[in-house]
Amino acid sequence: MQKMFIGGRWLAARDERTLPVVAPEDGQTFDHIARGGAHEIDLAVAAARHAVEHGAWGRMTATERGRVLVKIGQAVLDHADELARIEARDTGKPMATARNDIAVLARYFEFYGSAADKVHGEVIPFLNGYQVSLVREPLGVTAHIIPWNYPAQMIGRTVAPALAMGNGTVLKPAEDTSLSALRFAEIATAAGLPEGALNVVTGLGEEAGAALAAHPGIDFVSFTGSNEVGALVQQAAAKNAVKCVLELGGTSPQVVFADADLDRAVPIIVKAIVQNAGQTCTAGSRLLVEQSAYERVVGRVAEAFAKVRVGTPAMDLDCGPLMNPAQLARVNRYIDGAISAGIPVLAQGRVADGVPAGGFYVRPTLFGPVPRTAALACEEVFGPVLAALPFADETDAIALANGTPYGLLAAVWTENSGRLHRVAKAVKAGQVFMNCYGAGGGVELPFGGTKRSGHGREKGLLALEELSTTKTLVHFHG
Ligand code: NAD
Repeated sequence: MQKMFIGGRWLAARDERTLPVVAPEDGQTFDHIARGGAHEIDLAVAAARHAVEHGAWGRMTATERGRVLVKIGQAVLDHADELARIEARDTGKPMATARNDIAVLARYFEFYGSAADKVHGEVIPFLNGYQVSLVREPLGVTAHIIPWNYPAQMIGRTVAPALAMGNGTVLKPAEDTSLSALRFAEIATAAGLPEGALNVVTGLGEEAGAALAAHPGIDFVSFTGSNEVGALVQQAAAKNAVKCVLELGGTSPQVVFADADLDRAVPIIVKAIVQNAGQTCTAGSRLLVEQSAYERVVGRVAEAFAKVRVGTPAMDLDCGPLMNPAQLARVNRYIDGAISAGIPVLAQGRVADGVPAGGFYVRPTLFGPVPRTAALACEEVFGPVLAALPFADETDAIALANGTPYGLLAAVWTENSGRLHRVAKAVKAGQVFMNCYGAGGGVELPFGGTKRSGHGREKGLLALEELSTTKTLVHFHG
């Protein structure tokens, strides 16, 4: 049984309650985590507050904090194989993907560790006799609620910049995937992170997550996950008048014009939806193709799609199983719904022979042409399902790309540079890729949503602004 990490100590839930940890590859329970709730969240918020206001963490200079973060990055790399195995078992993803996720976790700590003492204030010209300066300060206690699709990457993405700015943090990992966060806390502590700087409370979203989002002792909440829960978190933050960063869903379009370099585009387009079994907020789930080249482009994508193989983490194929039975049912609902609506299946990947019977496997599926009003064209499936739709011209492409409530990522594929930039500018998304796709580990690149994909920015140096506040110092010296 895995205990929680609060104030530098390992604790079981007060009532000793636990939750099972199930492996997506075979559906078997292989461990248990503590089922924390409001009581443990109280303890964690108090520990984080103490660390910032009275502990060794709050006394550290920015340079010292940065040094600790860089050491954590190195310690993660030193434990990369172990962490990747934990992550692969917990999420079902292929080992190669899990290894990459751990490398990205390390990279976040290196990046933000190096940046910690390079956040400078400003001197503002004002009236004669005054000296005005703007200093940047930590927010205080920051709360981080993360999903199950990229647990290790998410720790780096949200916690590393918070620590770099000197906040005390409380992390609530997803109930399906808490193991890497717990092991990470141990590794970070051994690397020199003072007690209380990072607290990890495991448990259910509606218990521990809701208690954290609504806690009057937090100064900020970052949430990544579904739109439904994001709205609840924002309401809770509003009641305490604290800032909230939301990273929600997406239906990111791949906009392919007839002159696109298909040798380059096709493998990237397939990977962008198959990676992590499509359980990626930035999955390129809509393939929008210029009508005149539709058959040719979709034919090439179908050929590549049919070669996709799904297997266990150890098989290390293109992707693994889905996360849990609910996710499997959800994705199958979309696939079966599209088939019974008569939408043509253009290609399906295969589940490898020999996968365990109880695993949550689904066949990656390419549909097309998908009607513009079909669920597959408008909603987030969060699975390895790609919807191909033809468009008439540039204006139609932009309208179609912007035609869902989401705006997270987009890609434009064309050899015409004027068109590339016109479309990139017109598409509503937090990131637009031109003849490439996906930030993946792009820790340097500011990331976040427009429209219903959320608000606020993570990654890059902009995250340091989100995770800090300013104070204007006005000094009359005569
Ligand atoms: P989810 O919203 O159910 O859970 C996310 C996290 O919120 C988990 O830690 C969960 O325990 C917690 N939670 C659940 N109910 C809560 C509540 N009432 N109060 C506070 N916390 C609560 O989402 P999920 O099923 O884990 O993930 C799938 C969804 O997340 C998809 O829609 C996907 O697009 C989105 N997502 C977005 C991003 C992004 O960066 N934009 C990344 C990953 C996932």
